Amino acid sequence: MTKPKTASLFKAVSPYLAPYKGRMILALLAMVVAAATVLAVGQGMRLVVDQGFAAHNQELLSQWSWLLFVIILVMAGASFTRSNLLSNIGEGMVRRLREAVYAHLLRLSPAYYDVRQTGSLLSGLTADTTLIQTVFTGVLPVALRNFIMLVGGLFMLFLTSTKLSLYVLAGVPLILLPIITLGRKLRLYSRQVQDHLAEASAHLSESLQAVRTVQAFGREAFEQQQFARNNQKALLVAAKRNRIRAFLAAMVISLVFGGVTFVLWVGGMDVLSGTMSPGDLAGFVFYAVIVASSVGGMADLQGDLAKASGAMERLLDILNTPALIASPAHPTPLPEPLTGALSLKNLSFAYPMAPDAPTLHDFSLDIAARETVAFVGRSGAGKSTIFSLLQRFYNPSSGQITLDGVPIQQLAVGAYRGVLATVSQEPFIFAGSVADNIRYGNLAADDAAVIAAAKAAYADAFITALPEGYNTSLGEKGVRISVGQKQRIAIARAFLRHPTILLLDEVTSSLDSLSEQHIQQALDHLRQTCTTLIIAHRLSTVQQADRIVVLDSGRISAIGTHQELLSISSLYQELCALQLGKGT
Ligand code: ATP
Repeated sequence: MTKPKTASLFKAVSPYLAPYKGRMILALLAMVVAAATVLAVGQGMRLVVDQGFAAHNQELLSQWSWLLFVIILVMAGASFTRSNLLSNIGEGMVRRLREAVYAHLLRLSPAYYDVRQTGSLLSGLTADTTLIQTVFTGVLPVALRNFIMLVGGLFMLFLTSTKLSLYVLAGVPLILLPIITLGRKLRLYSRQVQDHLAEASAHLSESLQAVRTVQAFGREAFEQQQFARNNQKALLVAAKRNRIRAFLAAMVISLVFGGVTFVLWVGGMDVLSGTMSPGDLAGFVFYAVIVASSVGGMADLQGDLAKASGAMERLLDILNTPALIASPAHPTPLPEPLTGALSLKNLSFAYPMAPDAPTLHDFSLDIAARETVAFVGRSGAGKSTIFSLLQRFYNPSSGQITLDGVPIQQLAVGAYRGVLATVSQEPFIFAGSVADNIRYGNLAADDAAVIAAAKAAYADAFITALPEGYNTSLGEKGVRISVGQKQRIAIARAFLRHPTILLLDEVTSSLDSLSEQHIQQALDHLRQTCTTLIIAHRLSTVQQADRIVVLDSGRISAIGTHQELLSISSLYQELCALQLGKGT
């Protein structure tokens, strides 16, 4: 991992800032006007002192004071414009960035998520973007203003007194030196704090998702301690970072005010000896304070930019991760009409996490259009892996899958997945209503189609019995309905897709015979029009399959009908006795 660099931070955010060019120029103009008015106040002060006080002239004193008021009004207007524009630009930029990261995350293959905790990704999306937003809406505009004031202030200093200006300039490196050296340490600690906090938030989100397990095992205190440990780590590093930051601020303050006192002393001598007017000294001190506070303001800037760079670097890590499963530049169109014949040719596959332990070995199988093929095998034999490859969640290490003779890697990912429907063992139910969950299969479906799909999936009866029927909210992950009901909602979802290929992972938990029968009937409906692949756990399912594939450690051990396999495959007999016997 490279060290965060401020320059790369700007480069990284520039595409998200591009749409705001016009408004940025306006904001910059407002900033220059605001800075000019501040500098003009110094001139006003000089005139008030020299021509008002020193000359004992009441009329001029009033005149210059009024002018000062006008300048201050302009300053207020320009500051409003600057602040308002910059805040909106910052918010808009971060919104675009957040959406880009989310869009990219949604396209990354499951292989990416195999090695990461969703919790730390969430912290990446929310905390890091918020941090960048703070820097771009608050810190950077202030820094830019400081910079303009610094340049303008220096110019005015030299205009007022070259000798004193040289003293001030000599002091600037004194202020910059600690900022630069300590800034490095600050960057390092900032990154570490963020890493520890990300760890803590990953743990937080995981344990809350698993709150039932935590409570069932009585592990509340255990989880709390682990969370506290992560927080403690962050706290320790944060304490170091805060000490350095505070030390830096104290150092800069003493240097700045020490310098101002020195200037007052030297300048005061000049006024007394008559080589400088009191107004010039007043103006000079005013500008010196502006210059010094502008430089001092950069102390925090370094730390804040470091934090934002760290955050951006993490977001870039995500954005720069290539989506392994992407559509080819010139995808082959889906064959018309599509029959749904599948061919798995010499497939070998190892999960990216375990490249040396292949899960499938030279696996070949032809599946005819509208055929129903059941897969059986011991746990870990590779049944779900075949489904993952069929859904293009992973690319095979070698070999290929074809649909109607076209290798699926030549098809657009979305188009290919569009002809599939999957019903998994524990289907994911989103926190919306029943209707929303069914409509997930086909967003264009109207209410009538949703209800028809639910009826076909034998789900209508239990849905209408829910308190608000199709509008009932199912709670996070569908906690308010049973596993069998979730599966029927998933089957309705699949119906809405009018799939050519159906991938079905049967529930292992035993359902009551009525639910079982309903699910069976629902699937019979769906299977009539699809090529169906089933990970089978029930005898009733395998008996209805055209062919059954017996898997053993990623290889085909035997293929045949139920009767055939009973006589030729001892593994099948064993599986029937142990596993498939249930739920008949
Ligand atoms: P079950 O019936 O228990 O679901 P299965 O036949 O579906 O088992 P798979 O889930 O395909 O088996 O797993 C096959 C092998 O691949 C197992 O040894 C498993 O440990 C491994 N495996 C599965 N998923 C991953 C993953 N994401 N990363 C690494 N290895 C994996």
